[in-house]
Amino acid sequence: MTTESATAPINAWQVAQHQFDLAAEMLNLDPGLRRVLREPRRELTVHFPVKMDDGSVQVYTGYRVQHNLGRGPAKGGIRYHQDVSLDEVKALAMWMTWKCAVVGIPYGGGKGGVIVDPKKLSKKELEGLSRRYFSEISVLIGPERDIPAPDVNTTPQIMAWFMDTYSMHVGYTVPGVVTGKPISLGGSEGRNEATARGCVFTIVKAAAHLGMDLKKCKVAVQGYGNAGSIAAQLMAAEGSSIIAVSDSSGGIRNMAGLDPDRVLAWKKEHGTVKGFPGAEDITNAELLVTECDILIPAAYENQITVTNASQVKAKIVAEAANGPTTPEADEILAAKGVFMIPDILANAGGVTVSYFEWVQDLNRDHWTEQDVNAKLKVIMDKAFAEVLAQSLKHKVNMRTGAYLNAVQRVADATAMRGLYP
Ligand code: GLU
Repeated sequence: MTTESATAPINAWQVAQHQFDLAAEMLNLDPGLRRVLREPRRELTVHFPVKMDDGSVQVYTGYRVQHNLGRGPAKGGIRYHQDVSLDEVKALAMWMTWKCAVVGIPYGGGKGGVIVDPKKLSKKELEGLSRRYFSEISVLIGPERDIPAPDVNTTPQIMAWFMDTYSMHVGYTVPGVVTGKPISLGGSEGRNEATARGCVFTIVKAAAHLGMDLKKCKVAVQGYGNAGSIAAQLMAAEGSSIIAVSDSSGGIRNMAGLDPDRVLAWKKEHGTVKGFPGAEDITNAELLVTECDILIPAAYENQITVTNASQVKAKIVAEAANGPTTPEADEILAAKGVFMIPDILANAGGVTVSYFEWVQDLNRDHWTEQDVNAKLKVIMDKAFAEVLAQSLKHKVNMRTGAYLNAVQRVADATAMRGLYP
């Protein structure tokens, strides 16, 4: 089966199912179990009204999908983007199931999204949309049932509105219903940086395995949001040179190196990294195939495809984004000897610190940033070692290694629980 065709856009859900099928086949998974894990458990679509600043009422569409609840409550972020679709949210929910299993935290997978370009809303409209969406999906939500978090274009402020909305419904404060909250409301130290920090932990391990000196590495980062900008800063702290970065408007390159902090300040001031002094402007397509040692896709799905995979120059691809590489591109990269750190491992630091946040909330506790980062490192290093061992044992790439571990764990849990009734 192929997931890319010349005529139709790439469908993330088809990609996710294809990746699962590959692992299920290798694991010789029981056919009944395969049928269960191949589909989401629950899919909710909501159409809800929002009062706009000009007095008009607009209706928005949103989703919450729970893929699997076998190992614990559903966990996964909510994204606001004009291109959100049910199939995308289903794919992202399935990836969360595998991600939580790869790092061994006690959750199933879920995801949510609203079709909206939040940059076009005022703060008041954004709050109205967030509160009404959360109340519509609250039939599925709860600290023991389904715990949302930030994703593309959603922030700690939005998590605070979600938490408040849920708490107003039940009549008391429930911090453990969402993660990624502001620190003042039971958020965890280190959560904001966690996706990038976890990603850099895996890059450090990969470089050691490959005998690469990070101080001599050139790094390109696609996406300069929460994950991408902090990954650039942390890679610079490792001594690597950040030579290209981009955002949705385009990218910049300077082979002599960019200062990630100054680029971030520029983006805050001008709304984009483009035009940064001393760098040449490039496109996102050019960034992906630019001369570098490490490529960090930290934006959206389906960025590395059959069209550009053979031109990727990096030796390591670390997927801070979810689903940036298609299965066909994966094969091309593997044949070229590119070391792939797959999304469900590379970006699992975010949900891991979300788990820490939830544990702290349930216990009314607050850990230091040092404690959080140290615990994150233990989990990421262990998961990386387990995935590497699996990939070496079966002579498969790291994505397949990660899937073998994850799918086996979820399948074991599902089989042990048995079929109800
Ligand atoms: N949205 C993030 C992800 O894709 C974090 C999810 C979470 O913390 O629950 O992994």
